[in-house]
Amino acid sequence: MQKVLVADKINEKGIEVLDGVAEVVNNPEITPEELLETIDQYTGIIVRSRTKVTKEVIDKAENLKIIARAGVGVDNIDVNAATDKGILVVNAPQSTSITVAEHAMGLILSLSRKIAIADASVKAGKWEKSRFMGMELRNKTLGVIGMGRIGSQVVKRAKAFEMDVIVYDPYITEDTAKELGVRITTLDDLVENADVMTIHVPLTPETKGLISKDELTRMKDHAIVINCARGGIINEEDLYEVLKERPELKAGLDVYENEPLEDSPLATLDNVVLTPHIAASTKEAQRDAAIIVAKEVKEVINGNNPSNVLNVPIVDSETLQQIKPYFSLTQKLGQILVQTASPNIKEVKIIYSGEITGRAKEPLTRELLKEFLNPILTEPVNSINAKSVANQRGITITEGETDKNGKYDATIKVDVITENGDEFTIEGTVENGDVKVISVDDYDINLVVENLMAIIKYVDLPGTIGKIGKILGDYEINIGEMKVGRKTAGGEAVMVIKVDQEIPEEVATKLEETKDIESVKTLNL
Ligand code: NAD
Repeated sequence: MQKVLVADKINEKGIEVLDGVAEVVNNPEITPEELLETIDQYTGIIVRSRTKVTKEVIDKAENLKIIARAGVGVDNIDVNAATDKGILVVNAPQSTSITVAEHAMGLILSLSRKIAIADASVKAGKWEKSRFMGMELRNKTLGVIGMGRIGSQVVKRAKAFEMDVIVYDPYITEDTAKELGVRITTLDDLVENADVMTIHVPLTPETKGLISKDELTRMKDHAIVINCARGGIINEEDLYEVLKERPELKAGLDVYENEPLEDSPLATLDNVVLTPHIAASTKEAQRDAAIIVAKEVKEVINGNNPSNVLNVPIVDSETLQQIKPYFSLTQKLGQILVQTASPNIKEVKIIYSGEITGRAKEPLTRELLKEFLNPILTEPVNSINAKSVANQRGITITEGETDKNGKYDATIKVDVITENGDEFTIEGTVENGDVKVISVDDYDINLVVENLMAIIKYVDLPGTIGKIGKILGDYEINIGEMKVGRKTAGGEAVMVIKVDQEIPEEVATKLEETKDIESVKTLNL
């Protein structure tokens, strides 16, 4: 029987999953030395955060197939070393969703009924009944920012409180919203109309400071704002300033820009409830994490694929050689799509031609989806889980093949369709090691991809190109290279440019507001 080491204390229910499957050595106090000496005996290892699975350990792990983290973060595992050695790393990101959602509800109730502050008052020997007039949640509007795993659990719970739910999440589809009975809206609408606003997005460059003074100032007088996601999504300084001025506005926080929270002025306010990053801490979440990862270990021992894999799968070496040059193309196409595509994507069609058809398609599609989904999701999307993550999010993925495009050894064309029927198509190739865009929305373009670019749609009339050049010039943005494509003179045309400086949003807006310019999509790849 194969052996599995449980190197940290995990819930017994997890260990039970492996009964009859593997010989489990439960050694939650194992020392780093002992781990190094014995690791070569094991097929699987389950850890929480105490045990460090370092490169040194992995180098000695001659029989190890899977490293399982009974929880979410994998800072204690050298994932790259594991990948190099072909060892799978799995975790249990879904284990804490309900727990965090319940904590968010707890903070909401604590503020709507002033429970924390009333508790402090009673414990101080007071009986201030009239001071703690509350607000019912029934018929109030809950605004959820980010409707992923946790956001959707919050929605379910809020429905039980008879709340109306509006959601801001540009990456979900109308179908998903319908299933949960929520209305998708803009951030502005949500900020202005929510009685309670709760944040469940990852911290990314896009979401950092998503809620700052402007948004907080526009919230309803009596509104409640909750952050159980990550510190920094709400600007803490702005939050303090606004809450100090508006005692009826309230905030519940579990996460902070700097943790542990020290000497924060927020702690001096009555209209704030603070918890020390405990939203995910319940026995049930720990039990579920243990069960989930033990099942993953069981799958691997039984020769099946686990589902929460964090590192790259192994592609057979022949296919890998064939597709290697095209990985960078799929990566760039994925990045272009996430930066240009309209919200609410329903379908992604990927058409391959030339030497990357047949078996080569699958790993390339996964790579493209990985690049496309990673910037918008909390848990790392990798080549193994990319397709299932896309499907879970209601996006249909289709792959096809077409005849070789005479000029090129191979091409990849991606067609993205949104729920409104909007379509964006981009096609690329690799030539002499360079990644090239060869068409945009079926307009021929031939340009090597670089970091700073823009795709501009305009009406092909005399002077339009000049107007674009002038506006960019006014802002001292130099065009390094420009390619235009059109089907008929005087009709719609596409311009792809490489620029030496990033195009700020205000310049893109100015371009878009210019007569005969239809759309401007800036890229930073
Ligand atoms: P998820 O990846 O399942 O969902 C994130 C959602 O945010 C997705 O639906 C995505 O489309 C959406 N999104 C991404 N960028 C957006 C943007 N700019 N605007 C609006 N929506 C956007 O993540 P999850 O598991 O639900 O986790 C949500 C948050 O909770 C993360 O920040 C995570 O780190 C945090 N978290 C906190 C704790 C805690 O202890 N407090 C525990 C677990 C998770």
